[in-house]
Amino acid sequence: MAQTPIKIIVVGAGPAGLLLGILLSKQGISVTLIDGADGLDNRPRATHYGPPAVHELHRAGVAEDVLAAGFTPNKMCWRKLDGTYLTGLDNDVIKNNPDRVACLPLDQLGHILAKHLARQPTAEVKWAHKVTGLGQDDGKAWVAVSTPAGDVRMEADYIVGCDGANSQIRRSLHGDLNFPGKTWEQQIVATNVYYPGFDAHGYEDANFIIHPEHWHMASRITKDGMWRVSYGEKGGFTHDELRARQPMKFAKMLPGNPQPEEYKLANFSPYRVHQRLAEKMRVGRFLLAADAAHLCNPFGGLGLTGGIVDVGGLSDCLYGIWSGQAGPEILDVYDTVRRAKYTDMIDPISSENLERMTHDADTILEPGRDAFLTLCLRAEKDVEFAKTMALGINELQYDFTQHYTSKK
Ligand SMILES: Cc1cc2nc3c(=O)[nH]c(=O)nc-3n(C[C@H](O)[C@H](O)[C@H](O)COP(=O)(O)OP(=O)(O)OC[C@H]3O[C@@H](n4cnc5c(N)ncnc54)[C@H](O)[C@@H]3O)c2cc1C
Repeated sequence: MAQTPIKIIVVGAGPAGLLLGILLSKQGISVTLIDGADGLDNRPRATHYGPPAVHELHRAGVAEDVLAAGFTPNKMCWRKLDGTYLTGLDNDVIKNNPDRVACLPLDQLGHILAKHLARQPTAEVKWAHKVTGLGQDDGKAWVAVSTPAGDVRMEADYIVGCDGANSQIRRSLHGDLNFPGKTWEQQIVATNVYYPGFDAHGYEDANFIIHPEHWHMASRITKDGMWRVSYGEKGGFTHDELRARQPMKFAKMLPGNPQPEEYKLANFSPYRVHQRLAEKMRVGRFLLAADAAHLCNPFGGLGLTGGIVDVGGLSDCLYGIWSGQAGPEILDVYDTVRRAKYTDMIDPISSENLERMTHDADTILEPGRDAFLTLCLRAEKDVEFAKTMALGINELQYDFTQHYTSKK
């Protein structure tokens, strides 16, 4: 099988870019990651990775380290504001499945990925290299990069934009303001907190609280007892106003109605949230993956989960080209399939996850009100159905090797 010695540049050394770098370099493909920041991003963002993402972490050989640092959450449930349990899904029904949901804060995941990438001889990471523009012709693609030593042009056979929500690659390809979709009117405040009251009140590892005003999610996110509390606020508040409201929100929302001296707040980060999908995830020799290509609200953990599945599929496509088993047209299949997975699954499921939390908890279990919670009620009585539900999100996966034109 003739090899085409292609070189890949990945723009962005966030979790998606690092994982793509590992998957490619482990096959012997030469890959350079360039990132405008000085090092890993430590903001409190993703914590939970669904089964199709954990599958890719296994393929990259990093899952063992991720699970050793993190843990497997037990149950996800929905509650009223007063803590009354409504229904839930038990992760233990698939306890023998190696791909079941994993939990680890994103900053820790990034360090594990960077450590694994550093072991690969065909991979390199260049920090403080910010992409400012791009171009391509029949033979190659290039990016204009601002570095501490001055401006340079870097060339490759393919360039992948894993450069996050404000992707320069996406903006250069499709236009600065062209990222179709919507921004939610509500904003989300993501906090990390130590509060023993969750355990004292019998909270599960993941709890979605349904209430028109004080809707929120409370999830255990570390083995040492840190929790993520993410809650909705109206769109108009400034950062300072949100900060001032936080003690009132916790007193209204959390079990036991705690005052600030009863918990330790470790992080406070407001976010605007979006549902958006790029017009194309392939333009010639440029590809987009993860947040650079699509965004969703964080409820249900589909953002990076979907991004990781992109990256796994893209690595198969690029490996197919590199190993002579596929032509460049496989990248069009990547574009079509990954965009459809966003439109058909990630966007509607994540949107419903957020909207469900804003409803009236007293009536939400009435017949015909919420199809998903009705299925959860059924799963609580039917283990086989519960297993099917727990793995339903695996529909995000797609085997691109079926499009290899000649197989090794
Ligand atoms: C509160 C919150 C909770 C979340 N929870 C979950 C969850 O539980 N599960 C889940 O799956 N998802 C979750 N998400 C989503 C998840 O965090 C993102 O999908 C994920 O971080 C995106 O990773 P990425 O690698 O695509 O982009 P990023 O992590 O944004 O990385 C992009 C990288 O590109 C670099 N870069 C940017 N511009 C340039 C440039 N011009 N040149 C060079 N480099 C550049 C940046 O420095 C950065 O390192 C959550 C998000 C939020 C906000």
